[in-house]
Amino acid sequence: MDFELITTIWKRIVVVDFLRYFIFASGSYLLIWVILKKPLEHLIIQKKLPNLKRKLTEFAYSMSTVLVFSLIGTSIHYTKTHGGTQIYRDVADYGWPWVFISLAIMILFHDAYFYWTHKWMHHKSVFKHVHKVHHQSTNPSPWAAYAFHPLEAVVQAAVFPILIFSLPLHSIAIFSFLIYMITRNVMGHLGFELFPKNFVNSKWLNWHTTTTHHDMHHKHFNANYGLYFSWWDRWMGTEHSAYQQTYNEVKSREPQDKPVKKAMVSTPSA
Ligand SMILES: [Zn+2]
Ligand SMILES: [Zn+2]
Repeated sequence: MDFELITTIWKRIVVVDFLRYFIFASGSYLLIWVILKKPLEHLIIQKKLPNLKRKLTEFAYSMSTVLVFSLIGTSIHYTKTHGGTQIYRDVADYGWPWVFISLAIMILFHDAYFYWTHKWMHHKSVFKHVHKVHHQSTNPSPWAAYAFHPLEAVVQAAVFPILIFSLPLHSIAIFSFLIYMITRNVMGHLGFELFPKNFVNSKWLNWHTTTTHHDMHHKHFNANYGLYFSWWDRWMGTEHSAYQQTYNEVKSREPQDKPVKKAMVSTPSA
């Protein structure tokens, strides 16, 4: 075992994992929370935004997650170089259709994996040791995308070796999956609802989760455990009963309502 080579690979993977988080979290933060905050502030789901201390805590935990992810990534890389995975180089080996089918399988599998491991992490004997850190953000920001206790980071990362060792995967499919994962993750913690009006009222669209869906999970804890799609919550009866109503309320606000200022003014008389 060449430790120098493994250390070099690990450092590269740390950089890639950090950039994957940082580019998407900082990009959405800068665009939505800073540049477009004023015109979009009526779409702030919980009508207020978390303070700086909370965002810094989310970032700090995310850095520990980057470390956990990089160690698991290095193990996968080491196994791959020793022929232990089915990752292949030539698209022609399985054809283009398989690149797209394998991507769809990864997304569907991850959605189910996330729902059930998430439900398990909410069990009272597990929650405080594994998942409580993520729920310290009752009103999350994009920086919460990786804000996990190290044990939860292992649970979240474990889906990847399961997939890599089970399916023949081309790097295009793996790369696309990684981008899809982080995009949806950051969207779930965006705090602003940017999906179109009436999105959850359409039976053709409401199988897809929204920012409000995961935001309500952070606020209420005991509903909306799903990740990419809403069907597991529907099948298991765990969708929040006020999900549709909350989504429609947020999307019915007019820009001139300025909900943040109203909420602040109305507090003393409440
Ligand atoms: Zn979350
Ligand atoms: Zn949870």
